[in-house]
Amino acid sequence: MAKTGVVHHIELYVSDLERSSVFWGWLLSELGYERYQKWEEGTSWKLGDTYLVFVQAEERFLDIPYHRCRVGLNHLAFYASCRDHVDELAEKLARKGAALLYPEQHPYAGGKNHYAVYFEDPDKIKVEIVAPE
Ligand SMILES: [Zn+2]
Repeated sequence: MAKTGVVHHIELYVSDLERSSVFWGWLLSELGYERYQKWEEGTSWKLGDTYLVFVQAEERFLDIPYHRCRVGLNHLAFYASCRDHVDELAEKLARKGAALLYPEQHPYAGGKNHYAVYFEDPDKIKVEIVAPE
């Protein structure tokens, strides 16, 4: 199958690589990703032909924290396997103390035909896990 147009990789700079690695390592494993690379300043996880990279931001760039309402990335969305999988992840995230977003509208914060859970990563990047139609 042609790979044309498929996302090759996404690279995120993080404020605390250890903290982000723990969080994203858990989440991406739940979604079927496997550890791909690891070096002192970064790590990545891969699923199929796409991988996500997390790199420690340099100290001198940490004075302005990430904010998803500024210009730039707002959120990343991933498919769950089904609605039960969304529920299971929502439960596990709550138990981990992750910041769940729009709890009063869960799981329909994205509309009545969109079954999803929304939460923040350790740098407050919004993440969405959505059940296939
Ligand atoms: Zn979305």
